[in-house]
Amino acid sequence: MPTSAHRRKLRILFASSEAVPFAKTGGLGDVAGSLPRALKHAGAKAAVIMPKYGTIPQEYRDRMKHVADFYVPLAWRNVYCGIEKLELQGLDFYFVDNEAYFKRDGLYGYFDDGERFAFFSKAICEAIVKVPELACDVLHCNDWQTALCPVFLRELYRGAPQCNNVKTVMTVHNIKFQGQYGDKMLSDILGLADIPAARDQLYCDKDSINFMKGGLCYADALTTVSPSYAYELQMPFYGEGLDPIFRRRSNILTGILNGIDTSIWNPKTDGMITANYSADDLANKAECKRALQEELGLRQDPTRPLVVMIGRLTNQKGLGLVRYAMDGIMRRGVQVAILGTGDADQEEAFRYFDQKYGDMMCARIAFDNALSHRMYAGGDILLMPSEFEPCGLSQMIAMRYGTLPLVRETGGLRDSIHDSGDGWGNGFTFRSYNAHDMLNAVLRAKAGYEYPDGWQQLVKRAMECDFSWSASAKQYVEMYEQVCQLW
Ligand code: ADP
Repeated sequence: MPTSAHRRKLRILFASSEAVPFAKTGGLGDVAGSLPRALKHAGAKAAVIMPKYGTIPQEYRDRMKHVADFYVPLAWRNVYCGIEKLELQGLDFYFVDNEAYFKRDGLYGYFDDGERFAFFSKAICEAIVKVPELACDVLHCNDWQTALCPVFLRELYRGAPQCNNVKTVMTVHNIKFQGQYGDKMLSDILGLADIPAARDQLYCDKDSINFMKGGLCYADALTTVSPSYAYELQMPFYGEGLDPIFRRRSNILTGILNGIDTSIWNPKTDGMITANYSADDLANKAECKRALQEELGLRQDPTRPLVVMIGRLTNQKGLGLVRYAMDGIMRRGVQVAILGTGDADQEEAFRYFDQKYGDMMCARIAFDNALSHRMYAGGDILLMPSEFEPCGLSQMIAMRYGTLPLVRETGGLRDSIHDSGDGWGNGFTFRSYNAHDMLNAVLRAKAGYEYPDGWQQLVKRAMECDFSWSASAKQYVEMYEQVCQLW
């Protein structure tokens, strides 16, 4: 076997429906924008492939170069596909271009999402065959939007020499979203109706198919974004109906904790925050808090702990607990500021609290990246009481900014945050999905905040935690090597 010095670099093609800075709705966008770069530092060759959305900022669209175009077979029709390329900070991004599917004012939520992402997955397979620079050893798929790639590769592209040796890795970022559609798609779009094995693996119900299930059954390796979530996925409570597959394939399932892009999320250099600071000199954090209170119309009182929440306003994020405990939190003189968009009932509830509590509570119902930076910097505590949390990035970002996370012990939150009660932790935690337990943790944090010396120590300890990608990227490269049987 060749030694690592003689071996050529592993070529990883990272397939994702979003990637920072081009398109992002959540953690997957952050991961796809930063993990591939970290893979390069860890010794692999990596490139990203994603849809060319109409929402990608013009400055990037202007810089894209046309690489190839061809037609993608989707059952009885052939659909145009262009491949464009843009190099950004040393990493190649490839864009799948089809205006009918992707030139829209958002990423998801359309009646034909199933068809759009079936096309995207098929286009990736075609591109591997037709575009020599996309040749790869591992196709790394992420979530349901690219989960059909392993199915197509095995069932429809086995004969192509460019695909013969391509191994597939399927990463689950959130099992809640699976891509379930009527089984008519099998014949009408996927072109898999006559392949019994594919039908078997894709069917999830009498007359519906499940993209994620297909990916999980066909991929050569499965990963998820934290060790705890890898364990939880095997339980009915968390597995969303697919837990039997995770149990069956647990020998090829690994949990690797996400990292964050520490060059973007850095209070020392961040141009979007009011004043820069670091663990060695925290003075300006107080100025960030004051400015945030002013911006959000909150009482400018440094003695009040300011709890911030940044994220999708959905049940997953534990908002039921927050709504239940809100009166109790307010009664104790703690300020709360929420930034997010999501389910209509959740948005409505937080607008109501905003009205009710005047200058002690603020809800910004928006997706606003710059404001998120100012909130990470200006907050004292980040609240994340998720019902489940595959990894969670907000808690890691918050720590970078010296904003202490208060989290429920689940998934990646459990793997990244340890309660400070025992004297060495980096935040506050509670275990049961229970509003009183959460409120107790908020009160413990408030009590801690009232002792500035101890609080500063805790803030420094949190800021010194290493959530960069380097350790995780090494684990990914080891996993790829194992999948390619280079060990
Ligand atoms: P998830 O992937 O479940 O949405 P994560 O915590 O893994 O949650 O990642 C969420 C990412 O999206 C973080 O970078 C967070 O700052 C960002 N984010 C979420 N909602 C908003 C918003 N309304 N405005 C700005 N950024 C947001």
